[in-house]
Amino acid sequence: MTGDDRYARQRLIPGWDQDRLAAATVVIAGVGALGNEVAKNLALAGVGHLLLCDPDTVAPSNLSRCVLFSAASGDPVGRGKVQVATEVLHRLAPQTRVTGRTRDLTTGIGLGELADADVVVGCLDSVRARLDLLSRCALVEALLVDGGTGSWGGEVRIRRTTVEGCYACTLTTRERGRSDVPWSCADATGDHAAAAMVATTALIAAQLSLAVLGEVVGRPADSGIIVFDGGTGQTRRVEVTRDPGCLHHRPLGTREPVVAGSRSTVAELAAELPPGAEPQAWTEFIVPGAPGERPRTTSRILDAAGDTRLCDLGIAPAEVLPVRTTEGDYRWMRLSS
Ligand SMILES: [Zn+2]
Repeated sequence: MTGDDRYARQRLIPGWDQDRLAAATVVIAGVGALGNEVAKNLALAGVGHLLLCDPDTVAPSNLSRCVLFSAASGDPVGRGKVQVATEVLHRLAPQTRVTGRTRDLTTGIGLGELADADVVVGCLDSVRARLDLLSRCALVEALLVDGGTGSWGGEVRIRRTTVEGCYACTLTTRERGRSDVPWSCADATGDHAAAAMVATTALIAAQLSLAVLGEVVGRPADSGIIVFDGGTGQTRRVEVTRDPGCLHHRPLGTREPVVAGSRSTVAELAAELPPGAEPQAWTEFIVPGAPGERPRTTSRILDAAGDTRLCDLGIAPAEVLPVRTTEGDYRWMRLSS
């Protein structure tokens, strides 16, 4: 340790391992208020690689809670959240490599990337997005540290394996199917307006960051859900019983690597597959219709023209694709990065 070591103080923490942090990759899904704060914390602490994903642009209402947007050069309003955050993080912590994806979660981050990450952090603001992230993490058994804020507190949910009960297990079937409205998890009023302020954001983001840092340096937090009441300072652990009807407990089987990546063409992918195999995308895309007919949506990758790049169909890097075989069952093919 030297006097000009920016990590000198945190190296004094018993069990700390700066090298493990420098080698770690953390996915941050959602770069709103929580995502800003978590990304700032992890970058300052020296996490080596952050993968940020958010499809949205900066709005004026973000500025009271988002440290990275407030520190942007020029007016960040209207610019992509991921782009602004990436620029500011580079100034704040140049040793941290930041990969940004201005896309929604499913098209932005491949299942292989979730599987490879040391930790996936959920910083999302709708039930639908949380369930999507939970579902994709469950498919590859990625460790998920998920947060949500309410008016004066919030929740932190840690899910380590698909054997455990999960956030979705705590919801009713109707809630699991609800539409994609911003919904503050911890707001006991049930009001769908996502009330929030920076102090609450900082409280929950600190807990998420501690969970990530602890995990990486070998001091893992327990799985489960903890509710924080910022007004009283009290915390409460929620016992989660696994719901047999919850669908988020079925990891994929063996993943077979292929040479093709998301920048490969449909034809290049097809050349690697057995005859008759049908690779599918996780989200639908539009292909031209037959002569005289309108364009149509499909998830069959081979419906796209052979020279189309997979990324242009919304397929993320290192995605794991379901491939239906001629026998009618599925194999799981992992694209290269
Ligand atoms: Zn569940």
